[in-house]
Amino acid sequence: MREPKALTGMLLVFALLLVACGRDTGVAQDQKAQPASTQPAATSAKLTFPPDSGPLPAIDGKRALQYAKEIVKFGPRPLASANHKKVEDYIDAHLKGDQVEDDVFTAETNIGKFPVHNIVAKFPGTKDGIIVMASHYDTNYPLRNTSYIGANDGASTSALLLEIANQLRGKTRDGYSIWLVWDDAEEAMKPDTEVEFLSDSLYGITHLAQKWQADGTLKKVKAFLLADMIGDADLNVDRDTNSTPWLQDVVYEAATRMGEQSHFYARSLPMDDDQLPFVQRGVPSVDLIDFLYGYNNVFWHTPQDTIDKLSPKSLEIVGGVMLETARILDKMEPLPPK
Ligand SMILES: [Zn+2]
Repeated sequence: MREPKALTGMLLVFALLLVACGRDTGVAQDQKAQPASTQPAATSAKLTFPPDSGPLPAIDGKRALQYAKEIVKFGPRPLASANHKKVEDYIDAHLKGDQVEDDVFTAETNIGKFPVHNIVAKFPGTKDGIIVMASHYDTNYPLRNTSYIGANDGASTSALLLEIANQLRGKTRDGYSIWLVWDDAEEAMKPDTEVEFLSDSLYGITHLAQKWQADGTLKKVKAFLLADMIGDADLNVDRDTNSTPWLQDVVYEAATRMGEQSHFYARSLPMDDDQLPFVQRGVPSVDLIDFLYGYNNVFWHTPQDTIDKLSPKSLEIVGGVMLETARILDKMEPLPPK
């Protein structure tokens, strides 16, 4: 995922303001940049939610954080590395006995051919249709020779999906099937200062979306829920303006039912992330992302993206909201048009 241009402008204004305040340099503001939205939620309106019934979903945040620790212990996990293979094996080992499908292919990237490996675990439901929950697990390729381990960016959400699998395992859902996707090659192969991000990234999830479109699976996907960078102890999930508004309203309703809505949608910004190939194919999609990771997002894509910045509570909140969102979707009849 890359830094949205609007945000760059916004942060610049913020930085300039700070400089101006602190030193009275008289630096002019960028008139074109827009301030962050403070709109809390609800842009699609008129959604009718099913009654709030049954126990709220439970996520073991401590166990999820332990998985994240184990993933980062392997070190950087860029494409085609030995560590990458270790993480693939780690994920597979936790899915023993589950219905797992591999989507393995060779990506033609800007710097040559690379093996890519998406892992899909399928948990059945009684209702016809699928809810997909996804996270990428690779780390940024240009940072491969640094100590960058992507604790929040990739590990936290891959760990969370493993914990969601624990919650789904051994039961038949009274609702849609849930497919968990650990997708690969989300990160760019070259710095996005050199190559346009969207022409050099999202390789794994794009392949999966194309494959599911070709074999008819995509028609059954009722919603695509992406999680990215949500392990941050200071949790503020952004409203991604590239996502589907009505689905964000369902997410907000789920968060409200859990009493955690204060962590959601204080800010709006467009994200280029793994939700895009599904959005482009007409699947209602949402990117659950907190793109303010440390002051001015300073920990993002740096060796400072480490486990000590994460909190089990954040994993618990987002994992719970994802499962509660699925539960609300199960009972929304009919789902809004795409
Ligand atoms: Zn990243």
